[in-house]
Amino acid sequence: MDYNNKTVLITGASRGIGAQTAIQFASLGYNVIINYNKSEKQAISVFNKIKSFDGRAIIYKADVSKREEVNNMFRFAYDVFDRIDILVNNAGIAQQKLFTDITESEWDLMFDINVKGMYNCCQLALPDMIHYKQGKIINISSIWGISGASCEVHYSAAKAAVIGFTKALAKEVGPSGITVNCIAPGVIDTDMNGNLDSNTISALLDETPLEKLGQPEDIANVIMFLASDKADFITGQIISPNGGFVI
Ligand code: NAP
Repeated sequence: MDYNNKTVLITGASRGIGAQTAIQFASLGYNVIINYNKSEKQAISVFNKIKSFDGRAIIYKADVSKREEVNNMFRFAYDVFDRIDILVNNAGIAQQKLFTDITESEWDLMFDINVKGMYNCCQLALPDMIHYKQGKIINISSIWGISGASCEVHYSAAKAAVIGFTKALAKEVGPSGITVNCIAPGVIDTDMNGNLDSNTISALLDETPLEKLGQPEDIANVIMFLASDKADFITGQIISPNGGFVI
């Protein structure tokens, strides 16, 4: 195993893209903080998988939209690992609904988790990163944040906010040696798309030049690259692994 003593905190690492990313980082020797909110069993199974190859990880339950819970998570993480070198803001929710039917509480929840969660985590990670003049932040947006999706106006707007946030923060903290980048995945085979029927999936495949859905590792691989020193000169960028769906 390549030894690497850097620490990465991944929000929403109990399932899907976040879980795969946690396993890949741990397999390269990173210390991993597996954040989850509701899926405790799945978070434990990610943790056990990492332990099975002697990786280093902790799990922590925190709703990223709740500042106090995020505060406690960072306090715990700093106690265990001293530093957080890489923050992956991956936790997210999606919902398909006609715009005119979206309730105020659904709108707020979409922004609380997908946008405020990222704001909470970045504010808690940055003072230390600025102190050490080093750090990498990777925010997960979506192709819909670039191109917009019908019946997902609140999701598309929240994911577009992730892009604006990334660009602005990259400018602000670049002089402190910190990179901030964004990944805007295409359609990835995770629980998030579990409710799509076969007709919708085949319509999406028809529109994808590579004629396949992405897998969580397709996104984890890009996250790992942006977190590595190979990406030291990249900041403020939006990278969209999407099989050619949006070009
Ligand atoms: P997923 O399989 O549904 O997993 C979502 C993860 O987010 C879970 O681990 C969940 O944890 C966590 N989460 C949700 N609300 C949370 C909260 N309040 N606090 C902490 N964690 C929370 O989704 P995925 O496909 O892996 O998506 C990961 C990211 O990629 C999301 O930001 C999503 O918008 C984005 N994305 C996905 C696709 C796609 O096609 N799948 C495409 C573009 C972008 P618990 O279950 O423990 O609550």
